[in-house]
Amino acid sequence: MVPTTTAPPPISPALPAWHQGWAPPPDRARPSPVSPSPSGRRRRWATAALVLVVAVGFLAGIGSAGAVVVGFAVLTPLERLFRRHPYAVRRPGLRTDVLHLLFTGALQSAATVVAIVPVALVLWPLRDPREPGLASTWPWWVQALVGLGLFELVGYCYHRASHEIPLLWRFHAVHHSSRQLDWIAAARLHPLEGFFAGLFIAPAFLLLGLGPVQLGAVTVALQIWAILLHANVSWRLRFLDGVIGTPEYHHWHHSNHPEAWDHNYSGLLPVLDRVFGTYYQPEDRRPEVYGIAMPVPDGWLAQLAQPFRRAPRSSRAVGALRATMGDAGG
Ligand SMILES: [Zn+2]
Ligand SMILES: [Zn+2]
Repeated sequence: MVPTTTAPPPISPALPAWHQGWAPPPDRARPSPVSPSPSGRRRRWATAALVLVVAVGFLAGIGSAGAVVVGFAVLTPLERLFRRHPYAVRRPGLRTDVLHLLFTGALQSAATVVAIVPVALVLWPLRDPREPGLASTWPWWVQALVGLGLFELVGYCYHRASHEIPLLWRFHAVHHSSRQLDWIAAARLHPLEGFFAGLFIAPAFLLLGLGPVQLGAVTVALQIWAILLHANVSWRLRFLDGVIGTPEYHHWHHSNHPEAWDHNYSGLLPVLDRVFGTYYQPEDRRPEVYGIAMPVPDGWLAQLAQPFRRAPRSSRAVGALRATMGDAGG
């Protein structure tokens, strides 16, 4: 026997099959994609933030790998040619700093985004959507210059706070633990410094109307500058004293000479140190010893864990630790 079909033919081809009673109606309970529920919106925001964090971390990771190649191909030979201190290429701590360059940069960029997203979520509703930010009407080069100046000003405040506030110093001490300073020592940072710096810097950018593109461009430019500031090169560059940050200026920031502690917080614009009374650049001497009195372990993972180590409990021990932190803040 030939089987027959169970569905009757449509009564009218103009009407959809479900309307004629033999096919189930579409699921009308499904919410419209243009008006998601509040929990759906939260899920989307969380997913978008997670994708952004992973993407930024991935791109920063590619950039870090490129920096390793370019650094060893260009900067290491330059340091051999014009060296300030006679360090070996395979100096103590090199492996740890390579790991910092390869992985800490990506973690730090992701941590910065983690800080920026909640700041943006809080601040964006406070802005009038009909009013573009003040900076959005300026030419791109004015935005770039203002962005750079603003980044430096807020960066100065964050850097100074990271020396003067014990909680922040716990993280920043990792950067100051290098006893031999060269271009790759710039990468020795704790990833959560990106989070704290993001909390300082993002509000200023968002309130002025400078977007993530300007923030990202200024960050990359200043990170490249920061690598050059740490280079083990003998150039004194006196004509730039107090105008632009130089290796000499930043080497004093890392030096373990008591008269240089708590000075030279800026990266690119030492004028900020002049204004706030933290500028130190003697004419007749050069920095010789680097590092801090506070013990910081040598390994990469140990350095990531270092800020979370329990502080001594007795008040005498805490006082001794604070004194060491204060001594180290230079
Ligand atoms: Zn510092
Ligand atoms: Zn430094």
